[in-house]
Amino acid sequence: MRVDPEKCTGCSLCVRACPFNVIEIKLRTEAGLPEHPKFKKIAVILEGCTLCGACVEACPFKAIEIKREEKKEIDLSQYRGVWVFAEQKNGKVEPVTYELLNKARELADKLGEKVSAVLIGDGVRNEAEELIFRGADRVYLIEDSSLKNFVDDAYTSIISRLVLEEKPEIFIFGATTIGRALAPRIAARIKTGLTADCTGLDVDKDKRILLQTRPAFGGNIMATINTPDKRPQMATVRHKVFKESDRDTSRKGEIIEKKYPQEVYTSKMEILEFIPDLTQTVNIADADIIVSGGRGVGGPEGFKVIQELADVLGGAVGASRAAVDSGWIPYSHQVGQTGKTVCPKLYIACGISGQIQHLVGMQSSKIIVAINKDPNAPIFKVANYGIVGDLFEVIPLLVKELKKR
Ligand code: FAD
Ligand code: SF4
Ligand code: SF4
Repeated sequence: MRVDPEKCTGCSLCVRACPFNVIEIKLRTEAGLPEHPKFKKIAVILEGCTLCGACVEACPFKAIEIKREEKKEIDLSQYRGVWVFAEQKNGKVEPVTYELLNKARELADKLGEKVSAVLIGDGVRNEAEELIFRGADRVYLIEDSSLKNFVDDAYTSIISRLVLEEKPEIFIFGATTIGRALAPRIAARIKTGLTADCTGLDVDKDKRILLQTRPAFGGNIMATINTPDKRPQMATVRHKVFKESDRDTSRKGEIIEKKYPQEVYTSKMEILEFIPDLTQTVNIADADIIVSGGRGVGGPEGFKVIQELADVLGGAVGASRAAVDSGWIPYSHQVGQTGKTVCPKLYIACGISGQIQHLVGMQSSKIIVAINKDPNAPIFKVANYGIVGDLFEVIPLLVKELKKR
């Protein structure tokens, strides 16, 4: 991408057009350019440019040019099947895998394809069978003592090889710490696209395109992203976005063991010890009942009331980003776009206004109760039950009543 110094007048129209705010108008001398007889200033593209092309269209002087690499056509028809990365920890497959298998089954049935799971580890053969019970037709199993724990370079090399050999059409990962480390590395290695943190997946059956929906522009719109020219079409999806597949022990499938030369398993990393981050131990994503507090709780002390209600209901404590950013409660409690996606049976939002970035993380909860002073708070639009009132009056009354039962 370049700004032609002969054509740029420094008019700044491109600055307004750039959705990422990465164009600055500078003096030509400041930008290291010789002076121009007519134009003193020039547009300078800063770091963070996504090559979206909005500025090219906005420039009336055709001063911005983006040269794109020529597209290499690939034979899309060679790519078949829906794959799921079977994430395991300590030899046990993580529940997010079963959620992905459920969706993979649905997508594969629409396309008339098979579902495959990729399982890497050491001593995980039993789990391969479980993956079949949960919807996989085929499990690619790669076992080695060096692969017991996730190491991103070795796992990337193995899966990239497997993808190039077997050519899946769609490949989905959990948007977990492991999935988020692994999926982009593989996508970059095999030169395909990846949509992170999808909240919905579907397929266009005729065009065989994966429709990958996720919040965009700060959660203000839901964008459906396609990968029309590259394969596999890759996406990550957060835990709890889809329901787990049912377990059917009568299901039959194939376990295909794969072996690679030892150098493929070699990692630059060595895991010396695993020390869990104690601030991250709260797993609100698995809780059936969540009581969440927002800016309305007024401070760290305010979370005591939230905790009391959670305790009496046997639930976990969640929070909005406003409460987390204020330092009232650790990030591991945050629900929403940049926090966790939760799907409990009961979600009680206390002193939370209900901005879209919070809603995307909790709106699929079965029952939503909102407690807010403001009757016009947007949270009431998604709530099944709304209580307009001061949380410091309402919650103690609820706790008192619930303790009687
Ligand atoms: P506010 O919007 O300030 O609302 C406080 C509410 O409390 C008000 O409705 C008020 O009426 C009520 N209230 C006040 N006092 C009381 C009382 N005593 N009793 C009852 N009600 C009371 N937010 C998230 O939550 N999660 C995310 O993951 C997230 N990710 C984001 C990502 C991006 C890129 C951006 C731009 C924003 C993100 N946000 C996220 C922030 C989001 O936009 C909101 O700013 C945030 O959710 C607001 O939190 P809140 O509802 O607690 O605070
Ligand atoms: Fe104006 Fe085009 Fe130069 Fe931007 S690049 S300042 S729009 S002339
Ligand atoms: Fe901004 Fe897009 Fe132009 Fe890059 S290509 S400078 S992101 S408008």
